[in-house]
Amino acid sequence: MRPALSVNRYSVVLLGAIGVGKGTQAKKLVDALKVPQISTGDILRAEVAAKSELGLQVQAVLDRGDLVADDLLIELVRNRLTKPDTARGAIFDGFPRTIPQADALDGLLEEQSMPTPVVISIEVPDDQIVQRLASRRVCLTCGATFSTETDASLIAAHRCPDGRSAQILQREDDKPETVQKRLAVYREKTAPLLEYYRRKRLLRNVSGVGGANEVFARILIDLDGASE
Ligand code: AMP
Repeated sequence: MRPALSVNRYSVVLLGAIGVGKGTQAKKLVDALKVPQISTGDILRAEVAAKSELGLQVQAVLDRGDLVADDLLIELVRNRLTKPDTARGAIFDGFPRTIPQADALDGLLEEQSMPTPVVISIEVPDDQIVQRLASRRVCLTCGATFSTETDASLIAAHRCPDGRSAQILQREDDKPETVQKRLAVYREKTAPLLEYYRRKRLLRNVSGVGGANEVFARILIDLDGASE
C-alpha cells in the first residue's frame, strides 16, 4: 500500500469562484494532510468581528464584495506563514485572488522553504453557485458552513455538528446583490489566475459538482504523488 498522504509536505492553493466549496474542501484537506487552512476571508472576518484597526479598515470593502488591497493581504499571509504550524505546508483558501498576490505567493513560499503549490481549480456552473450561496449559512463562533436545504434542523436548533451552541447567520456578502458583484470581481481579477497557473503547469481542474465527499475524492486523486 502507498504511504498515507499525511507524511509529506504540501502547499495547496484552492482556486475557484465564490461558493464552489473551497472552504469545505479546505477543511477536509486539513484533516487528511495535517497542515493548516489559511483562509484569508476567515482571517478578515475575524478582524471585522473583533473590531480591530484592520477590521474597521476592511469592513466596508468586504460588505461591498470588493477585494481588499493586495499589499495588505500579502502582509497578512506573510505573517501567518511565520507561525510554526505551517512547517509542513498549508492549504490556501481564498488566496491568491489576483496576479500580484500569486506573484507574491511564490516569494513567500520560498522565504519559508515551503513546496511549490499544487493549484486545484474547483469548477461549478454559475447558476449552481448562486443557488448554493442563497442557501449558505455560517456559524459566527466556529466558521462551520450550513445549507438551509440540508441542515435545516441544525440551523433551527442553533447547533454545530459537534453539538456546541452556534450563532448561525447569512453572511452579509452572500446576499443576492453582493453575490453578483463578487462573481464579477472573480471573473475580472481572479479568473486570470487559471491561465497563470496553467502556464506554470501547476493547475489541476476538478469538478465541484456533487456532494462534498465526491468532490474531495476527486481532489485526492489529483494530490496523490504531488507532495515534496
Ligand atoms: P471569502 O470568504 O474568501 O469569500 O472572502 C470574503 C471577502 O474577503 C472577499 O470578498 C474580499 O473582500 C476579502 N478577501 C478574502 N481574501 C482576499 C484576497 N486574497 N484578496 C483580497 N480580498 C480578499
